[in-house]
Parts: sequence; structure tokens; C-alpha cells
Amino acid sequence: MKIDKVMVIGAGQMGSGIAQVMAQAGKDVILQDLKDNFVNRGIQKIEQNLAKQVDKGKIDEEQKEATMLRIKPSTEIASAKEADIVIEAAVENMEVKKNVFARLDDLAPPHAILATNTSSLPITEIAATTKRADKVIGMHFMNPVPVMKLVEVIRGLATSDEVSDAVYDLAKQLNKTPVEVNDFPGFVSNRVLMPMINEAIYTVYEGVASPEDVDKVMQLGMNHPMGPLTLADFIGLDTCLYIMETLHEGFGDDKYRPCPLLRKYVKAGWLGRKTGRGFYVYDT
Ligand code: NAD
Repeated sequence: MKIDKVMVIGAGQMGSGIAQVMAQAGKDVILQDLKDNFVNRGIQKIEQNLAKQVDKGKIDEEQKEATMLRIKPSTEIASAKEADIVIEAAVENMEVKKNVFARLDDLAPPHAILATNTSSLPITEIAATTKRADKVIGMHFMNPVPVMKLVEVIRGLATSDEVSDAVYDLAKQLNKTPVEVNDFPGFVSNRVLMPMINEAIYTVYEGVASPEDVDKVMQLGMNHPMGPLTLADFIGLDTCLYIMETLHEGFGDDKYRPCPLLRKYVKAGWLGRKTGRGFYVYDT
């Protein structure tokens, strides 16, 4: 199964990163979002990342320009008609993803793979909104995409071996390490990571320690490269909340209940680094 043309839906922190690594691997990329300014923000982010790579001597100016030329901006989901694979990286919300997949199923060519970068939502349920469940798969990149090596490849109930192999191979072409997992809430990565982050938020909520001290304990005591609250801000607190809700609902177990402080921050619009405020304050 040959994959030359890639469409990425959502030009946020993950979508722009996925578009960048695909273009750097020589793929033609369409980067789509709802509005021009959202797409442009994603394109600018890619340009900044590539400029840093030029400064560090990892690539030259010509390679940067060639990569940028491979990325076409779009605000039309109908651009999917040109794609061999579509990777959806819109918000972590089942209704949004189901709508996107139903439309993609109508618009994308019959051979096209429809992948989602969801952090936790069931692939099988997303696939059921299409008439090509055998071609629907989870391709879960880690943040920041250009840096992190892992891609969790999540097979839905009906995903075919051919499609799973093609996505596995695509991840390798990006110089990433794919790991295949089955479709259960949170897969492996977020089933293990997110309850730890939620528990760290509880320790702040209950006044056990400040965010700085919780992070210090985990960095210095457990050798984590960054503390859980710094990481939560980096991931986005809205995404963290969606994932906890998916685990809570998916397993029906109260051990996954989201911390009320996490809900409060999300309601306040304190979503972490991307909005300039979460557990910490950032220059935007
Ligand atoms: P983000 O908020 O940075 O970006 C989401 C983008 O999707 C926004 O630009 C938004 O305008 C766009 N969007 C929303 N609805 C859309 C639609 N219908 N069509 C096209 N674009 C649409 O979010 P993010 O952190 O990039 O997360 C995106 C996805 O990746 C989520 O499913 C998330 O769970 C997953 N993910 C996130 C991380 C992380 O660390 N943030 C890691 C792995 C996976």
C-alpha cells in the first residue's frame, strides 16, 4: 500500500507536528483546519521549528524550503479527495471526531486509510461511523511530534492486517518506533500516564504540596524528565480532562474520576501552555 499524499485534519500542536514530520519524510501534505488563521498558525509553527533545525545545523535552508513547499494549507475537508491517508488531529471529543470521520468516508478515495491521533477515544466506535472500518486505525503520536520517537498504533476491531502494516511502515519511514496495542480506553500510554497526572492534581487540590513541589518530587525522586503538572500544561488541560472522562466512562471505575481542580481550570480557560496559563504562567 503506497502512501504519498497525506492529509492532516487540525493544525494545532499535534496536527502541525504531524504535518511537519510527514513533509520532512518527503510526503505531500495537506494541512486542514476550520479557519485560515488556525491553519496559518500551524504553518508558522512548522516554519519556526524548521528554522531552529537550520540554526542547529540539522538541515540546511534548501531542505527547509523544500519541506515548506510540500505542505498545502486548506480549510476544506473536501481536500481529502486527494489523500492516500488522512490523519485526524482535531480536538479530543467523540462527537467532533465522528462527524469528521463520517464526512471523510464520503470524500476520501476508496483506498484511503482514515487514521486518528486520538489520545484515548475508542477506534472501533469512530470506525463504526464509516463504511470502511477495515481502513480505520489509531496512529497516536506523542508531543512534541518532531522529537518523540513513539507512535502507538491502535487496531480497531475490524482494522485489516494490510492497513495496520501500512501504518506501521509509515511510522518507520518517519524514523519513529511504532508499538501496536489493542483498542481499550487510553490504550497503554494514557491509561498509565493520565491517572498519575490526575493524582498529582489531587495533591495540589488537597493542599498536600504546591505544583512546583509536586513536580520537584517526581523529577528528583523518580527521575522523570519533567514533573506531572508541567507535563499536564504541555499536553493541554482540556485534553487531560477529556482523557480522564474517557477512562472514567470507558471502565466505569471511579478510580479514574477527574479531579475537580482540573475541571475548574478548564472551565476558566486555563488550558496550560497553549493559553498562557495552567498550573504555571507562560509568556505567549
Ligand atoms: P489543539 O487544541 O492544539 O488543536 C486542535 C485543532 O483542531 C485546533 O486548531 C482546532 O481548530 C482544530 N479543529 C477542531 N475541530 C476541527 C474540525 N472539525 N476540523 C478541523 N479542525 C478542527 O489540540 P492538540 O493538542 O493538537 O490535540 C489534537 C488531538 O491530538 C486530540 O485528539 C488529542 O487528544 C490528541 N493528542 C494530543 C496530545 C498532546 O500532548 N496535546 C498528544 C497525543 C495526542
